[in-house]
Amino acid sequence: MKCPFCSADDDRVVDSRLAEDGIAIRRRRECAACRQRFTTFERIEEAGLVVVKRSGDREPFDRDKIIRGLRSAAKNRPVDDEAITAIAGEVEEAMRLLGRDVSSAEVGLATLEALRVVDDVAYVRFASVYKGFSDADDFARELRMLVKTTAPKSKS
Ligand SMILES: [Zn+2]
Repeated sequence: MKCPFCSADDDRVVDSRLAEDGIAIRRRRECAACRQRFTTFERIEEAGLVVVKRSGDREPFDRDKIIRGLRSAAKNRPVDDEAITAIAGEVEEAMRLLGRDVSSAEVGLATLEALRVVDDVAYVRFASVYKGFSDADDFARELRMLVKTTAPKSKS
């Protein structure tokens, strides 16, 4: 496994455990060259989850695409790679549980919902890309909605 810090591909596994309710194995690895540690997830390759795009095109579900989107939304935010990987895993599981083809809108919404819990700013950024906000008004509306749904309820 290529080290994300120095690109050497000489590492050893320091810890293995089940993750995501047993559907994945999480491995902590230590790079032999720079001694940095990083995490990998191993899963059974599952076939067949198809995403139907807005254009009607069909493509295989791509977890990495979600991870890339989340990474750019979470740039400079306190959301680490493990959280991002976990969100992508959650989304994939939720989509597979539907037991049918899913739309790209469903994938986007599920990702948004999972991200909302983790980081508000990253959520709004992801929403702006995913929903294709055309102007600042859309943005403001989304922010108001966010404040409304996350504000603590006051006692009457
Ligand atoms: Zn390294």
